[in-house]
Amino acid sequence: MVENHNVFAGAFVDRSGERRKDSDWLAEAAISEEAQFVPVWGDLCLVGGDPPHAVRLLRSQVEGFVDDQDLIFLGLFRNRPAFALAIDRDKEQPFADFGDFQSLRSLGTRLPLDESNLVAHARALVLWHASQLYCGICGSPSQAEAGGNSRRCQNKDCGREIFPRTDPAIIVLVHDGERCLLGRQQDWPADRYSTIAGFVEPGESLEDSIRREVYEETNVRVGAVHYHSSQPWPFPSSLMLGFIAEATSTDIVLNDGELEDARWFTREDLRSDFPKLPFRISIARRLVDHWIMLGDGD
Ligand SMILES: [Zn+2]
Repeated sequence: MVENHNVFAGAFVDRSGERRKDSDWLAEAAISEEAQFVPVWGDLCLVGGDPPHAVRLLRSQVEGFVDDQDLIFLGLFRNRPAFALAIDRDKEQPFADFGDFQSLRSLGTRLPLDESNLVAHARALVLWHASQLYCGICGSPSQAEAGGNSRRCQNKDCGREIFPRTDPAIIVLVHDGERCLLGRQQDWPADRYSTIAGFVEPGESLEDSIRREVYEETNVRVGAVHYHSSQPWPFPSSLMLGFIAEATSTDIVLNDGELEDARWFTREDLRSDFPKLPFRISIARRLVDHWIMLGDGD
């Protein structure tokens, strides 16, 4: 129902799935002058310039860092092959001439939209590889394949194929028509409130998950839920699924202690100094802005 343009999303990388298993094409693409490498040092991304841009390096600039057996092919970005370049955090910070390594969390809204999408993709895959060096079934070493888009257990008797995982999490603005339900965690900046969120558990639908999370955290019962949009959240591997939901009860009790406070806020409250709204990078902020806008249409 809503055009998907949350930060980090946007399908700006043509993932070229058919190229992933074409090892000759990949090998050639990786040494071509067209190749661009997106460095990820530990979990940090290389940013240069003002306004900032995500640095993409040429092959000649990354010699000595690329392992051609272990390429992580992201796809075509601005029509050129793009690879993630994983650099161990234990190594000294490289590429200082090109910029600084920074946290993607603070960069999301400052980068051009297509570059945030590219870098989120690179970061998520690099961290996934680092966490899957061994098979979870037999414990043998695993190795990247399909251009770094999967791994395979090297034990011939096992041979398990391991795919990058994405962990679904719901994030929901609950409202009773006039007011919306926001909560805050203890370690958040003062006065900041946000929508209710939590991971989807095994055996749950998204609707089940929303009704359980909202009840556990606030005691509020939820009826109808409406999908809004989603956002890749590569910290390290979540997919935030955003909803607007209708409350069928309004008494708040902080059942599971996850929140320090939860309250009902009117649209007028949300336009005032209190509460402070979620950061602009987040889908939570977009849900709040969307709900405020719905009131303007009355
Ligand atoms: Zn195995």
